[in-house]
Amino acid sequence: MTTTTTSPQARYGDLVARSIRIINAAGVMQKSGHVAIRDADDPNVMWINSRKASRSTLTAADVVAVDLRTGEQIGRGDEPPSELHIHREILRARPDVGAVAHSHPKYVVALSVAGHTLVPVTVDGQFLPLKTPMLDDARLINSEERGALVARTLGDASAVVLRGHGLIVVGRNVEEATTRLILAESNAWTQYTASALGEPRVLRPDELVDLNHSYDEKAVRKSWHYEEETARRAGALDGLEHP
Ligand SMILES: [Zn+2]
Repeated sequence: MTTTTTSPQARYGDLVARSIRIINAAGVMQKSGHVAIRDADDPNVMWINSRKASRSTLTAADVVAVDLRTGEQIGRGDEPPSELHIHREILRARPDVGAVAHSHPKYVVALSVAGHTLVPVTVDGQFLPLKTPMLDDARLINSEERGALVARTLGDASAVVLRGHGLIVVGRNVEEATTRLILAESNAWTQYTASALGEPRVLRPDELVDLNHSYDEKAVRKSWHYEEETARRAGALDGLEHP
């Protein structure tokens, strides 16, 4: 996380670009995902990657600000993604959420297409609900109304699946949302693979409570650091400022 830049565009732009590139390097982003961060100085503003910029080479300049009250873009730059409503409606409904990440992870989507509920089966999935809510609709979330439906389906959960489409996770900050998206796909891979071998065992509520308790802010930082360094070693952060 960079601390040397000063303007919100530079600071949040770098964080969004870094998050997207990290998720992409982990194989969980694909071409159309997005990450939004709530502005800590103005909770009615979110920063989100633009519609067109490649998720492989995104920079701070490709990140735009959106007014959560109006849905309008603030300032100049490329337009926000058509699915900005996912992020806007969740951030409006959930003051506890500081960042929202959405992409189309293949194992999460495969499970949804087969009618399986995403469930926590490994330590990676410790943040998932016992039954992750799923919106039974594969269409894009490209209107305020559909964004509100997603926010209602999410409720107070940490994740919501869009059947045949993708996954949305929320976090207190961008580090948590970023790593949750990657960890959810890891959990989904195990659930998918185990389903081919037999009936997957879901983590028990007492296991979830203990795992949740031990997965604190330090653990989030460790996950972020691991993914960031892995991405950097692969050259996936080239062109971004070194923190
Ligand atoms: Zn999508």
